[in-house]
Amino acid sequence: MPELAEVEYFRKQWGRGLQQTVISVELHPCSKVFRGTDVAALRKTLRGAMLLGSEAHGKQMLFRFSNGGWLGVHLGMTGKLRVEPADVVALKHDHLVLQQGRHSLVFSDPRQFGRVLFHRGKTEPAWWRNRPAQILSRQFTRARVEQFLSRHGRAPIKAVLLLQSGFPGIGNWMADEILWQSKIHPARLAGKLHPRETGKLYLKIQSVSRAALRTVGENDGDLPKSWLFHHRWEDGGHCPADGSVLRRGQCGGRTTCWCPGCQKRAVRV
Ligand SMILES: [Zn+2]
Repeated sequence: MPELAEVEYFRKQWGRGLQQTVISVELHPCSKVFRGTDVAALRKTLRGAMLLGSEAHGKQMLFRFSNGGWLGVHLGMTGKLRVEPADVVALKHDHLVLQQGRHSLVFSDPRQFGRVLFHRGKTEPAWWRNRPAQILSRQFTRARVEQFLSRHGRAPIKAVLLLQSGFPGIGNWMADEILWQSKIHPARLAGKLHPRETGKLYLKIQSVSRAALRTVGENDGDLPKSWLFHHRWEDGGHCPADGSVLRRGQCGGRTTCWCPGCQKRAVRV
């Protein structure tokens, strides 16, 4: 699952096409990634348009083109953006290819849970305007996090951290890392955390996001060696803090890894 940092990584891939004009648009119109999208308008508007800029927000990206074209991309489970030579031949899973003079900008997605949205207009589309506060923005305050946790107070904290309406960009491994570093058991109810735990959680949400954004590309090996991240994938892994055998199970509908020594079910303050 692409998370905050991976999204930023893929957004930058298409940065090589900035200030260059799209010569042709090749797409698979029946692909599920275009569900609800006017592919004819996309094709017509983007042909001859220049890529002017882009931004990422949580797991979504927006690419701005001249001619009033706005292309939204959500990577879903297996979506990727890459740059190929201009004369690339589209492969089976390359659902959108924007050919430019020097490069082709390619969106591929084998499982097609990703999404390509399109809007034509002078201002950014409504689906981009109504977004929750970014984790590393000034609007992401502790009070906002507390409100969000109490609104979802009866759900396990792990499931709440995965809600994109509160924590845009946080995915499965990041949620596990944040909870482990905060010493909070993933099944604890979001509304039952001690204020001191909430405070710690708030700081870790930001520090894990910041470190992930700094280091994660296609190679995750640069994350700090002291993190749970390096130990969570295999059965029989050990907690890097206290050496306990890590547990894995379902929580909030997702595979979750935690340390029974560091993350107790009872409140620890
Ligand atoms: Zn531990």
